[in-house]
Amino acid sequence: MTAPDDQDTTQVPSTGDVVTRREVLAALGGATVLSSTTDTVTAVGGGTVHVRMYPGTIPTTGWARYGWQGVTTGWAPPFEDALEAVREAFEQVQRYAWADGRLEDVDVVIERGGRVDLSLASISSPREAVAPSQQELLDAFRSTLLDRGAITGTCSHLLCWWGPLHYNVGYGGTRRPNGHVAAVDGEGAQVVANLGATELWDSRAVTRNIAIHEVLHTFLSSSVVESVIDSRCDHDLGTAVRTDDRTLEVSPMATAYAGPEEFGGGTRFHGTACYDHDAFAQHDGYDGVESWVYTPTLSDATLEAVTRYVEHRLLDDG
Ligand SMILES: [Zn+2]
Repeated sequence: MTAPDDQDTTQVPSTGDVVTRREVLAALGGATVLSSTTDTVTAVGGGTVHVRMYPGTIPTTGWARYGWQGVTTGWAPPFEDALEAVREAFEQVQRYAWADGRLEDVDVVIERGGRVDLSLASISSPREAVAPSQQELLDAFRSTLLDRGAITGTCSHLLCWWGPLHYNVGYGGTRRPNGHVAAVDGEGAQVVANLGATELWDSRAVTRNIAIHEVLHTFLSSSVVESVIDSRCDHDLGTAVRTDDRTLEVSPMATAYAGPEEFGGGTRFHGTACYDHDAFAQHDGYDGVESWVYTPTLSDATLEAVTRYVEHRLLDDG
């Protein structure tokens, strides 16, 4: 698959100057002592949709925002909501597939992984520590999983990241070369969703959709997408539907890609990967739109593409 399709790098804040280095280091986990170093990975058979979600480090300012809810486990409210949203997304896929007698033998396992504290030692250079690139972050995440013996089969490992000022991480993206779970034998996929960015710059609805969006990238390939719509880009599976003259309702794969490519066009920041509104499963245009609504309901094109991916890549192995 083509790598750029996976990268939802955005121009998330260029206001980094107002943040102290200490805050950035704290956001990267340098100030955290709590860390889960062991993980029990559920053993799953072939033909299983397997997703593990991991809470990344949240700085004190982030925890204070949520009244310290979840601080003992690492699962802050937005991370909890993201987990539930991903669960419900795969339930939608199952309902869609089952209605046609498909994926009946497929199990879906969505589970929690232990905290991930990507210490500065795992980020190679001082520049990367302050402004980590998405791939550098994902490589460090993979190293942590490797140390835990957590990389098995075709599991998609999603890191819930708190990096509201990590513009190079953007809203999220997948690691190369394993951008989808069957791309590299035995590697599964590693993917990051920058839920600190969606929370601070957008809304909980965008947080949910971006979590779904990033995980679904790992259950899609260009060829599967092309078999469903006239495009090889995952984002074009999404929809932006007018529910009235001033309201556009955006589904998960279109989230961060449905608006004009400018600051505040839909989501606060626009994704920088592939998209073509003319190739979207549905895009009703945004002229006159004042209200952007983010629905976790997957478009039919997305449901069909994920179903086909599981059928072709997880059941038939090819
Ligand atoms: Zn994307």
